Amino acid sequence: MRAGLFGGTFNPIHKGHLMAAEQVLERFSLDRLYIIPCREPPHKSPDYLAPAADRVHMVRLALPADSRYYISEVEIRRSGPSYTIDTVTHFADTVVPGATLFLVMGMDAFLEIHTWRRWLELLEWVQPVVVTRRLDGESDADTDRSIMDESIRTRLSGDYTYNEKNGCWQNPHEACIHLLQTLPVAVSSSQVRRRIKTGKPIAGLVPPAVKAYIEEKELYR
Ligand code: ATP
Repeated sequence: MRAGLFGGTFNPIHKGHLMAAEQVLERFSLDRLYIIPCREPPHKSPDYLAPAADRVHMVRLALPADSRYYISEVEIRRSGPSYTIDTVTHFADTVVPGATLFLVMGMDAFLEIHTWRRWLELLEWVQPVVVTRRLDGESDADTDRSIMDESIRTRLSGDYTYNEKNGCWQNPHEACIHLLQTLPVAVSSSQVRRRIKTGKPIAGLVPPAVKAYIEEKELYR
């Protein structure tokens, strides 16, 4: 079993998230991809955090009808800040024991992974899949790879080297870090929230059902 874990605030879910999810699912031949909205993001304080039930509902509305997608409310149910290590150990122990776990994240998130709780241990449990992300929509494969390389060696460990054959960074224990070059979708949740607040259209940034739900519930105004 190959399972992906894709955590985030999803405040709200947008087309950048959906693109990342779809590409990781296909490129890593995942059997399942769990979308995991967090209760309280430990690393950022958004200007406004919509109620968890609304964020989960928007994820439900946004996901394609594909049985490989799952929504997990494990972080919503757990009190306090949502630490990824707690979520990962929960999946490894009880949800998909024995599965190979991939942790999906944008490059912005990966560049801060060394500040996450028990990050060294985390890297032993999961293989990060880092999705390129640029808000200006431009992508440059060589730059992305050298940013990752520098970040891994200086912030994580000098033990990692890029393995051309496997297409990932590996350490002597064969822990892997993957970089998935994608056509970046230049959208962020904060941009969506800002546009709503200033009365600008959000069509094209979120799926139509999510847009309709935001309007109906008057979220982010
Ligand atoms: P905000 O703008 O409020 O900070 P966000 O758009 O970064 O939110 P999150 O829910 O915090 O959304 O992101 C969850 C994960 O999805 C993170 O790992 C983030 O890097 C990744 N992600 C978000 N948007 C994109 C995108 N456009 N392309 C690739 N990855 C993305």
